[in-house]
Amino acid sequence: MDHFQYKNGILHAENVSLERIAAEVATPVYCYSTATLERHFKVFSGAFDYADTLICFAVKANSNLAVLKTLGRAGAGADVVSEGELRRALAADIPPERIVFSGVGKTAAEMDFAMEAGIHQFNVESETELRTLNGVAGSKAVKAPVSLRINPDIDAKTHEKISTGKAENKFGIPWSRAMEAYRLAASLPHIDVVGVDVHIGSQLTELAPFRSAFERVVELVKSLRAAGHSIQRIDLGGGLGIPYTEGGEVPPLPAAYGAMIVEVVGNLGCQLILEPGRLIAGNAGILLTRILYIKEGENRRFAILDAAMNDLMRPAVYDAYHGILPVAEPKPDSPREEYDFVGPVCETADLFAKSRPAPPLQEGDLIAIKSAGAYGAVMSSTYNTRLLVPETLVKGDQYSVIRPRQNYDILLGLDKIPSWLE
Ligand SMILES: *Cc1c(COP(=O)(O)O)cnc(C)c1O
Repeated sequence: MDHFQYKNGILHAENVSLERIAAEVATPVYCYSTATLERHFKVFSGAFDYADTLICFAVKANSNLAVLKTLGRAGAGADVVSEGELRRALAADIPPERIVFSGVGKTAAEMDFAMEAGIHQFNVESETELRTLNGVAGSKAVKAPVSLRINPDIDAKTHEKISTGKAENKFGIPWSRAMEAYRLAASLPHIDVVGVDVHIGSQLTELAPFRSAFERVVELVKSLRAAGHSIQRIDLGGGLGIPYTEGGEVPPLPAAYGAMIVEVVGNLGCQLILEPGRLIAGNAGILLTRILYIKEGENRRFAILDAAMNDLMRPAVYDAYHGILPVAEPKPDSPREEYDFVGPVCETADLFAKSRPAPPLQEGDLIAIKSAGAYGAVMSSTYNTRLLVPETLVKGDQYSVIRPRQNYDILLGLDKIPSWLE
């Protein structure tokens, strides 16, 4: 459930009209709903009937400081994949003991920063990374708390570009080498082995792949304990999918996901760590955009928007479906016509929706692209020298610009002219 609903014929975010935001901030602009973020976090955390559960929001899904602060206050920790994300989580007052550091390519400098910050654990993805971390921790004469990310070789049955738990993917330590990697970890003086970590992919719409992966984790924890390792935590990653398509995919409810997890891993006596991203933020945001032109093509009608693939990359990268709503509520009996919703960028991939039925639209109409709260603004770029898209956060009947639109001085000022061209 989200808080983007029509009220008096106008689409609102909670009690704020999207027409008002468009008039005051201009378009394109992201708009997030506090009530939806909080609700999703509460529903997710409430799904775990298990005392020692730490829910670390995957910062890469939406890293705006105001969003992180909202979730941190609701009780979330953070799953970060870079020093930059760690700095964001800390700046949003998320306590370091609630932060886990994932990612397949952490640098020694990033490890050093995270050790200084005192994070909860490193999710380590290779033997060589273990040795590097051991060196960094050794230079400070401390021990780094480590879970090893194991690749369980499970097909997540999701889009290939967001599938991470198959043996052919770059992520994690191969299942067959897990015991050996733990032996190495235990032998390194500045590594403190604390747990096991998996993350098999994103936008999963079935429980079965999760269950298979988590059963493998249980098996591994038992073998590791039998071999003398002290395993106190299991981190099961993120990846639970959300409904993007009306009447389309029906992902499992958080309650079913949580119950399955407690059933499968509940009696290991471990702290349970989860890293949801999309589930919390995806349907808590929309991208608000205006139709610049309606263009009649050969057999097709294009709605050319002022938002483009550089503002929301998911359709271009993952062939992702996003719902599209006119901000002015269509009359129930208005006819439907098919539009291709496209942006102004010079790429055929700059296409948000193809042959999408919509009520008759006009130039100047406002459009909300739904489910844009995760992997939206964070993936935006300045391609075609377009200004980075702004973000707003609504709470009740107020809203705030939580990232202003970039300006051309800042954007062009990023470049430097070499002396020989001056
Ligand atoms: C991307 C990612 C997540 C979050 O995935 P969602 O599908 O957004 O829940 C969690 N953990 C790791 C390690 C990730 O890379």
